[in-house]
Amino acid sequence: MPVLRSAFIALSRNRNLRSFAEKSSIGNKLSSRFVAGLEISDAMRVAESVNRQGMHVTLDSLGESVTSEAEAHKAAGVYHRLLDEIAARKLNSNVSVKLTQMGLTLDPQLAGTIAESLAEHARSTGNFVRIDMEDSSLTQITMDIVRRIHAKPGLNSAIGIVIQSYLYRSQADVEQLIADGIRIRLCKGAYKEPPEVAFPKKSDVDANYLKLTWMLLQSPVYHGIATHDEKVIEATKSFARQHGIAPSRFEFQMLYGVRRDLQRQLIADGYNVRVYVPFGREWYPYFMRRLAERPANVFFIAKNLLRK
Ligand SMILES: Cc1cc2nc3c(=O)[nH]c(=O)nc-3n(C[C@H](O)[C@H](O)[C@H](O)COP(=O)(O)OP(=O)(O)OC[C@H]3O[C@@H](n4cnc5c(N)ncnc54)[C@H](O)[C@@H]3O)c2cc1C
Repeated sequence: MPVLRSAFIALSRNRNLRSFAEKSSIGNKLSSRFVAGLEISDAMRVAESVNRQGMHVTLDSLGESVTSEAEAHKAAGVYHRLLDEIAARKLNSNVSVKLTQMGLTLDPQLAGTIAESLAEHARSTGNFVRIDMEDSSLTQITMDIVRRIHAKPGLNSAIGIVIQSYLYRSQADVEQLIADGIRIRLCKGAYKEPPEVAFPKKSDVDANYLKLTWMLLQSPVYHGIATHDEKVIEATKSFARQHGIAPSRFEFQMLYGVRRDLQRQLIADGYNVRVYVPFGREWYPYFMRRLAERPANVFFIAKNLLRK
C-alpha cells in the first residue's frame, strides 16, 4: 500500500484530529467538496439537484461505530426520517447504511433488528436500503445479517449489500449472493487490509473487479458497478454491449464530488448513474478515506479553499 494512502487511513482513525476538525468551521468548509452538508435539509437540497441532472441518489448519514444502544437508535432515527422525507419529496433516492452505526460491534442482534426495521420501512415506501461494507472483520456478519433479512417474506427487494474486490473471499461471496438474488454494489474497497485477506497489489484488485463485474452483469439481478475507474467503466460498457445486456439492467455508482464530468458523460450516453451523497456532522473518517484514495485531492481542496 502506498505510503500516503496508509498515512491518510491512519489519520482517518485519529480521534483528536477528528474531534478538532469536525468542530471547526474551516473543517466543515474543507469537507464540503465530498460531503453535502451537516443537516438532513442539506442532503435533501443536494439530492434534488442531483436528481435534476438525471441521476439517482443514495443518501448516507455519516457516522460509524457507535458506543451505546441509545446512539444506535438515534442513528437509525435519522434513516427513518430520511426514508419519510424521500417519499414526501418524491426523490429518486435510496439510503446507504453502515451496520457499525447501528450497533454492530456492540451487539450484532441490535444491528440486525435495526436494519430489518429500516428494510420494513423502505418496503412500505417502495424504497431500498443498501448495507455498506466495512472492514474485513465484519464481512461475514454483514453477509449473515443481509441474507437473513433478504430471506424474510416481502423484504427481498428492500435490502442489498456491498462487495469489495480487494478481498480474496469476494468471488465466493458474489456466487452466494447471486444465488440468493441479492442486489450487490461492487467496489474496490476503502479500508486497510492485511495480505492474508486482501490482494496487496492494485493490479490484482482491478483484475478481480472486472472478473466480479462479469459475474454481476450476467446475473438476472440489478446491480451497481461503483467505481470512478475509467478503464473499468469502458470495459463494463463494452462487455454489456457484446453480450446484449441493456444499460437499464445495471447502474454505475460514484461518490458525490468525484469525477462529476464522468457522471454527466455516462448519463448523456444513456447509462444509469447513482451518486452516493453523504451528509452529517461526523464527516471526518469518510473525508480522510477520500483523501487516501487520491492524495492529490489535498492540493485540489486547498486550491479551492484559497479561491473562495
Ligand atoms: C458509490 C460508492 C459506494 C462505495 N461504498 C463503499 C463501501 O460500502 N465499502 C467500501 O469499502 N468502499 C466503498 N466505496 C469506496 C471504494 O471502495 C473505493 O475506495 C473508491 O471508490 C475508489 O476506488 P475506484 O473504484 O474509484 O478506483 P481507483 O482505482 O481508486 O481510482 C480510479 C480513478 O478514479 C478517480 N478517483 C478515485 N477516487 C477518487 C477520489 N476520492 N477523488 C478523486 N478522484 C478519485 C481517480 O481519477 C482515479 O485514478 C464506495 C465507492 C463508491 C463509488
